[in-house]
Amino acid sequence: MTAHAPEPTVRTTCAYCGVGCGVLATPDGQGGAAIAGDPDHPANFGRLCSKGSALGETLGLEDRLLHPMLDGRRASWEEALGAVAGGLRRTIERHGPDSVAFYLSGQLLTEDYYVANKLAKGFIGTPHVDTNSRLCMSSAVAAHRRAFGSDTVPGCYEDLDEADLIVLVGSNTAWCHPILYRRMTDARTKRGTRLVVIDPRRTQTAEEADLFLPLAPGSDSALFSGLLVHLADTGTLDAGFIERSTSGLDAALDRARSIAPNLAAVAALTGLDEARIAEFYAMFADTERVVTAFSQGANQSAQGTDKGNAIINCHLATGRIGTPGAGPLSLTGQPNAMGGREVGGLANMLAAHMHFTPEEVDRVRRFWKAPNIITGEGMKAVALFEAIETGRIKALWVIGTNPLVSMPRAERIRAAIETLDLYVVSEVVADSDTAAARGKRTVLLPALGWGEKDGTVTNTERRISRQRGFLTAPGEARADWAILSDVARRLGHGEAFPYTSAAAIFREHAALSAFENEGTRDFDIGGLADIGDRAYDVSAPVQWPVTRKGGTVSTRKRLFADGRFFTFDGRARFVAVQRPALAEPATPQRPLVLNTGRVRDHWHTMTRTGRSQRLAAHRSVPFLEIHPDDAAAAGLTDGGIARLSSAHGEAELEVAVTDAALPGNPFMPMHWSDATASRAFVGALAQGANDPVSGQPELKATPAAVTPVPYR
Ligand code: SF4
Repeated sequence: MTAHAPEPTVRTTCAYCGVGCGVLATPDGQGGAAIAGDPDHPANFGRLCSKGSALGETLGLEDRLLHPMLDGRRASWEEALGAVAGGLRRTIERHGPDSVAFYLSGQLLTEDYYVANKLAKGFIGTPHVDTNSRLCMSSAVAAHRRAFGSDTVPGCYEDLDEADLIVLVGSNTAWCHPILYRRMTDARTKRGTRLVVIDPRRTQTAEEADLFLPLAPGSDSALFSGLLVHLADTGTLDAGFIERSTSGLDAALDRARSIAPNLAAVAALTGLDEARIAEFYAMFADTERVVTAFSQGANQSAQGTDKGNAIINCHLATGRIGTPGAGPLSLTGQPNAMGGREVGGLANMLAAHMHFTPEEVDRVRRFWKAPNIITGEGMKAVALFEAIETGRIKALWVIGTNPLVSMPRAERIRAAIETLDLYVVSEVVADSDTAAARGKRTVLLPALGWGEKDGTVTNTERRISRQRGFLTAPGEARADWAILSDVARRLGHGEAFPYTSAAAIFREHAALSAFENEGTRDFDIGGLADIGDRAYDVSAPVQWPVTRKGGTVSTRKRLFADGRFFTFDGRARFVAVQRPALAEPATPQRPLVLNTGRVRDHWHTMTRTGRSQRLAAHRSVPFLEIHPDDAAAAGLTDGGIARLSSAHGEAELEVAVTDAALPGNPFMPMHWSDATASRAFVGALAQGANDPVSGQPELKATPAAVTPVPYR
């Protein structure tokens, strides 16, 4: 056996969740690497969860897409890029630029996101650029913008260390953000921090909480409306903060009173016990240092934005925001959902946190020297895929994501994709559902995977970290930004896409964030606009804003501590939220309300975690958690097989009878799909209703029915 000298250790960032843990990767010289937590990274201080510590087990090249594929055969890059550029040009000539759409991913690096967004919105001239982050945290983005005037997470992870009360809403943090959860459990040990979990499902996080509130699906804003009323009625409002720094309390409070005037009303709407509601309200009212962290259980809802604002209302009412140990904290699902938000990788944003005022459009147009700058919002994810069905979208480029599994009504999307004139998929693996959906009639472009690519990601607490390559690019795989730039050149936009490194793209992104705005916006990173290649290479994690005034670069852990927000008058807004209601309630034919989510050891559609036997051992088959009463009513037995059906599709799942599921509210995981040999994917069942503000689809409450499947 040949001995290989160990190669230098590289500091990089975990490929999975939005905690953004630092990783030390030591390549073994044979295509693998030893993985350890980075003790110097302020997100994790050396810790890694099961997924992060198994990163080294997912680096193999089995199933990798190693060469461009055209018409089902291996093609040269020259041919493949020519086919993409030619197809885009023909589509634009025949149907106009807005017949082209891009669907991006919170797995992309910020630099990839930036170039895709610039090409589409500035040069092709299509606004239809959306991302799988729409399915993840777009309701939190919208809630931030409504309340703060900007998409800004006010606090930081240190707040979890310094809180006396942590309230988790719709978050199985112990499984989905495990290293943050470790910080919470440390705080419980060290300072006696109490933990309240609000979730319909008794998760591991709920099992360990001081107080668990298993509320009815969709009723979160009733609980927080009742809390706002309680705070007002018990004299817990911070009158000075409200007077100086907010507007809209009266309307929000009136609405809250109309929804949840007293404990009995809250109990009726949430299904919770009055005594437990009162206990929670007293804990919140009596604790100055309180962090309310919310995640997909709140966001993935047809009322997700209201849920976020109902939570933020309670923090504004008490002035508990932007101070140590206090504030609302949106827990981001994906490793770079935040970076995508920064560069405008969502259909309702332009770039660098800018939207579509005439001044912002003009500023971006001049900075990019963009001939075809768009002037308004594009279609968000669900509408974008529906527009393929109606024939409005003729060309689709999917980069780094698997919408054929994850999007609601996935079966219809599968059929619609057949009608596209041009279907391009940039992927790491050759056989994802999305890459394989159209057989030969797909341009497949091999992209670099984690461990091979270079750039930055931004985590939940606004911390920008480097992802650094430590493995040689396999086959002909290339960086997404390089592929996009080559297509831009072939479309005649070479001058605007001269990039030869991720560092150059990052500098441009940083410069745009501060263009004609230097130091005036809470989210600029203009202080990094002249970062050199070497400094970029070795840069340590840093939280935005990174601003520069008079030659001094500064950054901030927390925002809004001064009581000034990014609205035109500097005041935060209370929001009068709607009465909670499910977009599609249960019916006699479909008496259950299906909840969905993650398991501890898998990520998204398992294209990476499925490679690790260790991770797969945690849960190896798709399952349905169902309350004993529902199981008995349907004739299901533990360990048997159930057929779960909604109005949109069906799945077969192994039955897990458990009172961790509320009666009437079964749960299935989101990870399995056709590609993993299972008729069990969430997208086929999900209803497709959207939050009217954020466009985030409802993935937590789909009416469903179950029947037993006889043993074959
Ligand atoms: Fe990776 Fe998230 Fe685990 Fe950290 S908590 S190691 S970022 S999956």
